[in-house]
Amino acid sequence: MRLTVVGCSGSVPGPASPASCYLVEADDDDGRTWTVALDLGSGALGPLQTYCDPRDLDAVLLSHLHPDHCADLAPLHVYLAHHPDGPSHVRVVGPFGTTSRVNELRGTEDPSEALGVEVWLDGAAITVGPLSIRCESVTHPVPAYALRIEGPSEREARSAVVLAYSGDADVCEGLDRAAAGADVFLCEATFTEAEHAPRGSHLTGARAGEVAQAARVDRLLLTHVPPWSDPNTVIAEASRTFSGPLEVAQPGRRIEL
Ligand SMILES: [Zn+2]
Ligand SMILES: [Zn+2]
Repeated sequence: MRLTVVGCSGSVPGPASPASCYLVEADDDDGRTWTVALDLGSGALGPLQTYCDPRDLDAVLLSHLHPDHCADLAPLHVYLAHHPDGPSHVRVVGPFGTTSRVNELRGTEDPSEALGVEVWLDGAAITVGPLSIRCESVTHPVPAYALRIEGPSEREARSAVVLAYSGDADVCEGLDRAAAGADVFLCEATFTEAEHAPRGSHLTGARAGEVAQAARVDRLLLTHVPPWSDPNTVIAEASRTFSGPLEVAQPGRRIEL
């Protein structure tokens, strides 16, 4: 399983990164590559095309329906529906309300033939080729999910690895369940301890480190740092609470699990 950071800017796009979007790829036993986008936030569809043709996406998995995680579903619809080689279809899995959010973004009530929407069921798993993805409900001001993705290891034949993605979340049991024992924990750190960091919506670097430490993850990839925050502050906070390897996500960062 391979992870590529397409966009990682927190809450809004930044000067050097679109909002949240992460590409996950895995090969099945027949050598076919399966491609999944975790979130498709504002500005992400442009740089996504550096890494894949959006028509080749097998699924777009949405953590929640804030614009910095789903706004580019509208341009994805246009790309799929109006491509000169003919229309194509992508599976979209998101919270209840995803269909109406897609229509709001497109400015129409006409259903999208290009985006096939399914709704997450809390704690249930879906499969996309060799990937098994379980969602866990997490604490955020709107319905939101952390995702636990299990897939084939790049390094060891016939062994499985786990990528956990927090989406947007504050400390909660769902986040703990999603992260437990993960090989890589892609975890948001929106706030810093130095600023006003209210409870119930986001983590700080320190809180992300605490969750990662308790979950015994191998590696912490901090993300969703807003353009107005200093990534070095986030790293310094997280290294006080997490003893394993950690870094802040950058667009183009690629990790083989
Ligand atoms: Zn967000
Ligand atoms: Zn959010």
